[in-house]
Amino acid sequence: MADNIPGSRKTSTPALVPSTLGIVCVDFDGTLVDSQHPTDQSVHPSLVRLIERLRSEGVLWVINTGRTLEGLKIGLEIAALPFTPDYVITEETSLLVPAPDHPDGWDTHGDWNLQRDLAFRSLLAESGHVFEEIRTFVTRQTQARYLARTDGTGGLDEIIAASEAEMERICHRIEEVRRAHGADPLGYQRNTIYLRFGHRGFQKGSTLARLGTSLGIPAERIFAAGDNLNDLPMLDPEVAGWLACPGNSHPLVRETVQRHGGYTARSHTGEGLTEALRFFGFGG
Ligand SMILES: [Mg+2]
Repeated sequence: MADNIPGSRKTSTPALVPSTLGIVCVDFDGTLVDSQHPTDQSVHPSLVRLIERLRSEGVLWVINTGRTLEGLKIGLEIAALPFTPDYVITEETSLLVPAPDHPDGWDTHGDWNLQRDLAFRSLLAESGHVFEEIRTFVTRQTQARYLARTDGTGGLDEIIAASEAEMERICHRIEEVRRAHGADPLGYQRNTIYLRFGHRGFQKGSTLARLGTSLGIPAERIFAAGDNLNDLPMLDPEVAGWLACPGNSHPLVRETVQRHGGYTARSHTGEGLTEALRFFGFGG
């Protein structure tokens, strides 16, 4: 089927016109930049030009990443973008807006982060025994590192596995423990050998959706793109009407984007995003 071929053109023409685009939201590592590249972690020039033009037309530019704010700032500095994002989502759940007077240069947007912290704390209080059971398994039966973050502010415990195969085994165990305890709100975001526990109600998708709601921009006016498993919650038609992934994406991400009628680019990272935006008619 042509739609399953990376970079293939869909037969139907997108119904929306460029002026309806409200938000371009992209993941950072592996989507905006090739963070594994030894020397070049810049944003592809074609994408820089395109985003600059879209921003001049009022489209908001949002980065949605698993990085911490400090980590993202470093990445942005290396990427040497000529403009600051209008909003960023860090650690998949922290919604921030530029604030030149703030010591960090960024401030929280609305009460989403507060809601998340409260949800995390109540999850910790209710599911401490579940975390403990998983922690015992990880420390005794795997080579992975278990990083405990006790107060829940900004994030929950993390695991760094020795290999992707080991992370598969850990995820399998987490699912077993979750099922045994009925710990429904307990979720996690996994990216290769990294895993961060979270609350099912707070991930890249729900955070982007909240941003859209707060700005009066509905899902059908949002473009979202990502390359890895932690991007799946935002690669959802309920969150964004325009979905895309670069050519270097995880197979499950490609499959998800195709299933939702999105665009899987042939080119990698930023160049792939330009390809996708042009396909949807936003290329000018
Ligand atoms: Mg990524």
